[in-house]
Amino acid sequence: MTDKQTKLFEQANEFIPGGVHSPVRSFKGLKSTPRFIEKGKGAYITDVSGKDYIDFCMSFGPLILGHQDEDVKEELTSALDRGWSFGASEPYSLELSRYLVERICFIDKIRFVNSGTEAVMTALRIARGATGKDKIIKFNGCYHGHIDSMLIKAGSGLAGTAEASSAGISKNVANETIVLELGDEAGVTECLEKHGHEIAAIIIEPLPANNGLLIQHKEFLTFLREVTKKHNVLLIHDEVISGFRIGGFQGMSCHAGVFPDLVTYGKVIGGGLPVGAVAGKREYMDLLAPIGPVYQAGTLSANPLAMVGGMATLKKMTPAAYDKLREQTKSIVEEFGKWLREYNNGEFSHYHLVQKDSLFWFVSKENVRSIPEIPSKISEQFLPLFETLLEKGIYLAPNAYEVGFCSFSHDEKVLEDLKKRLWS
Ligand SMILES: *Cc1c(COP(=O)(O)O)cnc(C)c1O
Repeated sequence: MTDKQTKLFEQANEFIPGGVHSPVRSFKGLKSTPRFIEKGKGAYITDVSGKDYIDFCMSFGPLILGHQDEDVKEELTSALDRGWSFGASEPYSLELSRYLVERICFIDKIRFVNSGTEAVMTALRIARGATGKDKIIKFNGCYHGHIDSMLIKAGSGLAGTAEASSAGISKNVANETIVLELGDEAGVTECLEKHGHEIAAIIIEPLPANNGLLIQHKEFLTFLREVTKKHNVLLIHDEVISGFRIGGFQGMSCHAGVFPDLVTYGKVIGGGLPVGAVAGKREYMDLLAPIGPVYQAGTLSANPLAMVGGMATLKKMTPAAYDKLREQTKSIVEEFGKWLREYNNGEFSHYHLVQKDSLFWFVSKENVRSIPEIPSKISEQFLPLFETLLEKGIYLAPNAYEVGFCSFSHDEKVLEDLKKRLWS
């Protein structure tokens, strides 16, 4: 059975660097080779050998309704009948723009792009355009996509000592990013006092969920809002994961009551189609071309199919739906927790789970809120857990630092099936 996967992965390696189009898909450091997924339905995916898995990766977050939600499918099918790209004004992005601006209290305008990465790239450009300053503060452990200036290592960036975390990034670009530790108010204060006159923006995932689930104290987010105002620095919340997932429709910013100048969205906003967005206050958004001096464009931006997919997905996300999703996740996390404590004489009993709404993370320590606090053996510990679950037909994202995602499809029936699979 695994043979088929291995063979396909060998072929993929011939034509595609590392056999994948995004590195975390490669199962690097794990025993298995990547499963080649043929199809998905509800909470399940099926690989090309016909084995099915309860999917807790959900395309790394976008599929909040599960695979092939019937309503989304119906809307997408009728959208296909109308054509899938115009490169012109169309009513579909207008509908989604209005829907979002009317519901998210701190945004006046929104522009759609094709990915979270593009959204961050645009937000940073607006911040530089608005302030006339160049440097950006980011936090160790927050991921903001694969733009050059965000691929910078921790403990770098101050006074021209920045080091990129990827090859191919120029020293000049690297030197424009300053990386600080999450939760380090003193570090932020010191940095702004010294360099505030050069800093255009502070960018943060208000709920960091790309290097584990590093839940921040609300006070830290409030603190960032206050100090950025004081130093004429824009605050950018990267809500590509937390948007439309945490604290209901309004995302982590509203949940924490901390309103940024700009926000970036991705993942859930397209319901599994390629969409990203940057949104925020009118005064900043109106800096964008064609009315402002900050250039930004996209051949396929606000692609009508993707807009319809996003709209159909978001329309189903009522407060009641969010409550249900949170409860379903809680039951699933409880079941996983019980299994971790008891399975195979406590083989995994060092683990526990962190949950925030429909996200969860397996980690062997409590109250982890920054990168230095993450257990150093996290990847070694993850290998047996991942392989055991995969064997049982339970699919986690193939990396210790990735969070698990639940969807509306992970209902009571799936919970029963999960129990069966876990204890088999
Ligand atoms: C996924 C993610 C990105 C990048 O989005 P892509 O669509 O993969 O380019 C940026 N920021 C955060 C917080 C993300 O989770």
